[in-house]
Amino acid sequence: MAMDPREALWSLHLLDAAIAERQAAADALADDGGTAARLVELRERLESLRSRARQVRSAQRAAELQLESLREKRQRLERELYSGRLNPRELVNLQRELDSLARQHAELETWILEQMEEAESVERELEELDGELRELEAAYRAAVEDRAARSRALEAELEALRQRRHAQASLMDPELLERYERLRQRLQPPVVRLVGEACGGCHVSLAAAFRERLRSGEDGRPLPCPACGRLLVP
Ligand SMILES: [Zn+2]
Repeated sequence: MAMDPREALWSLHLLDAAIAERQAAADALADDGGTAARLVELRERLESLRSRARQVRSAQRAAELQLESLREKRQRLERELYSGRLNPRELVNLQRELDSLARQHAELETWILEQMEEAESVERELEELDGELRELEAAYRAAVEDRAARSRALEAELEALRQRRHAQASLMDPELLERYERLRQRLQPPVVRLVGEACGGCHVSLAAAFRERLRSGEDGRPLPCPACGRLLVP
């Protein structure tokens, strides 16, 4: 025995609503809330800090080598100063050169200390960022897996619902089906129940004679609401 066309229409509408709801949920799953973008940003920041740390450390090493050669030069000149082989004028010049070397030495030491502080600060920041990145990556991986599992479940539900929808539609009067399809392009929900004396869609009260026609369902057809045009089922 065939289903009452009004109940068939109602079933089809419920299936379409269930499909739309799961489709919206599946679409929402595609949005990760900006985490992937934040990860990219953090990785870039980390890379730039790493390169800065390398740069600072390498400048520091170069300065240390320079300091070492300054030290050797000073020692050599000091040995010469006390060798007793120099005349007074040469002694004055040598002393002047040694003073200048001492100033350079002190400046270079200060600069190296600054570089070390900078390197330590960059390395501290690197460590913090690295920790933050690891946490975010772990959370992101878990979220991706969770979303993938939910998405698979939703897809399976959607597939089952689409099959039921297809079967339901194939049983229906093609003319009613077409009317329904046209209606749902412009009205949501396209099919509503009578609620008391009113249309369940627009809530306008319906005449007693109209309600009676709908309930008795002589021809078994749903009737359009005179106010909003939705298909009414009792
Ligand atoms: Zn209505």
